[in-house]
Amino acid sequence: MLLTARTRYPSEKVNKKGMPYEKYAAYRNLIPIELGQRGEGIAPTAVSLLWRDRKEIMALVGSKCKKCGTPQYPAQRVCVACGSQDMEPYSFADKTGKVFSYTEDHLAASMSPPAIYGIIEFDGGGRFWFDVADCEAGELRVEMPVKMAFRRKYADAERGIYGYFWKAIPEVT
Ligand SMILES: [Zn+2]
Repeated sequence: MLLTARTRYPSEKVNKKGMPYEKYAAYRNLIPIELGQRGEGIAPTAVSLLWRDRKEIMALVGSKCKKCGTPQYPAQRVCVACGSQDMEPYSFADKTGKVFSYTEDHLAASMSPPAIYGIIEFDGGGRFWFDVADCEAGELRVEMPVKMAFRRKYADAERGIYGYFWKAIPEVT
């Protein structure tokens, strides 16, 4: 059976960590997975852009206005709140936040459908959209606390490039 992006993993059999064996096998490239039209082809990683914006991408560094204190991501040269051009680097990687809004996308290409993503509002200010990981369909709620984690975003097996970015992880208490 060829799994599709819209197919939830059907097996009741799970491994030690509670992951269905089909999902485990797909993650390990042991069985083929059909990601559908939206999963075809991965654009080559723009290495020059990755280098230029390495702090924003790899370290989740945005900017904070020195005049009014508004944190912003991506980094801005001009404050969105007061128009000041006096900005300083501001890291979001170690900040916690809350789910502002989210969606579960059953048509998006995902190794673990549905793809879950949403807007995260950081404690201390700043909003941006992120994929949500370590979360199953129906579990996420608005206002749920999250922390940030640097996770794999895609695997470009043809070129041997693995892309990473920050994802929001719900903190279940
Ligand atoms: Zn400002």
